Amino acid sequence: MLGSVAYGEADRIVTLFSRDLGKVSALGRAASKSRTRFGASLAPFVVGEAALEERHGSELYVLLRFEAREDHTGLGGDVLRLAHASYGTELVHRLTAQRQAEPTIYDLLVELYRTAVASAPSAWVLRAFELRLLEALGFAAALTRCVVCGVTDGAALDEAGATVVSERGGLACARCAASLRAGNVLCAQARRALLAVAAAPLASAPSLAGVVDAGATTRAREAMHALIAEHLTAPLRSLEFIRQLRGQP
Ligand SMILES: [Zn+2]
Repeated sequence: MLGSVAYGEADRIVTLFSRDLGKVSALGRAASKSRTRFGASLAPFVVGEAALEERHGSELYVLLRFEAREDHTGLGGDVLRLAHASYGTELVHRLTAQRQAEPTIYDLLVELYRTAVASAPSAWVLRAFELRLLEALGFAAALTRCVVCGVTDGAALDEAGATVVSERGGLACARCAASLRAGNVLCAQARRALLAVAAAPLASAPSLAGVVDAGATTRAREAMHALIAEHLTAPLRSLEFIRQLRGQP
């Protein structure tokens, strides 16, 4: 479930992210009162099977049943794990279109929940998630070539640092960046770390934490946030929450 809002006295409109249908909204009758009807399972971070009924002439499905298969609500016991899972959930909610099947993104979100439960919270898991999400949406970040001159020489991008050109979805080499407005600079270490996590399972991303220095970690975060912000119309609530937890802007 991506989210839900109250509807009338007892009903709720829930937004589900389904592997077969993509993001759908469904009316859960008496979902606010009757916990028995949907179990306690109709909650964020629960993966399950929903029975939906299509209504003629309505965008809204009716949720008949929901059965949990994987319950990751235990994430709520750890505020940082919860924040990370919430961030991934909000990104999927905001960046996907209604009723457009996105099985790759569905699998990625489930992988994020499993990783958030099994591994220590790591910024690199979020970077890997962001990169793979952008790719699945057709907005893959261009990290191996200059988006201006097209040079694919890693040294040209790494020598003086590559500049993030978010409106073009990638990086510019130092030579091209001179003619552009200033953007975040991505150092060689951060660029290589992003390439490494993008190609590996989310669960292996935390191993970078001890390898990449704090400065490169920050640059990678800023670069990804700039690239993602291009596709958002408003700031993410979950990101604000993570910032508060970190105690930094
Ligand atoms: Zn260039």
